[in-house]
Amino acid sequence: MKKDDCIFCKIANGEISSKALYEDEDFRVILDLGPATKGHALILPKEHAANLYELPDELAAKTLVLAKKMATIMTEKLQCDGFNLVQNNGEAAGQTVQHFHMHLIPRYENDGQKINWIPGEPSQEELEEIKKQITE
Ligand code: 5GP
Ligand code: ZN
Repeated sequence: MKKDDCIFCKIANGEISSKALYEDEDFRVILDLGPATKGHALILPKEHAANLYELPDELAAKTLVLAKKMATIMTEKLQCDGFNLVQNNGEAAGQTVQHFHMHLIPRYENDGQKINWIPGEPSQEELEEIKKQITE
């Protein structure tokens, strides 16, 4: 199902034009308008899901297969040196468009970008507590 007021629904389904790199019955892959690096692209499912939690399993599985295919093609064509897959869920995690998407970010030596975090220093006890919280 499409969502009427969703810009990525409109782009994914071709109602708003985009620089599309790939399309099939489930997805459109487009160039990001605010790229982190040359070639930064987004995988958009045509069906609306706000985030990973809402995405049907079958589309979740197909997303990673497509990401691998696009990363392989883009690495060859762009001659990039590395590749990040990024997928944000929720505003706290940096999601700004509430339609599931996966970022395909080619990386180049000295491209100046940082997709990073500050590493914590948890004790073994803290790690054990977190493990329990998640698994019990
Ligand atoms: P998020 O922060 O939600 O993970 O990523 C949203 C991404 O969508 C951003 O990288 C932003 O540059 C991109 N974006 C937002 N609106 C548009 C648009 O209308 N067209 C395209 N091609 N990219 C967009
Ligand atoms: Zn949508």
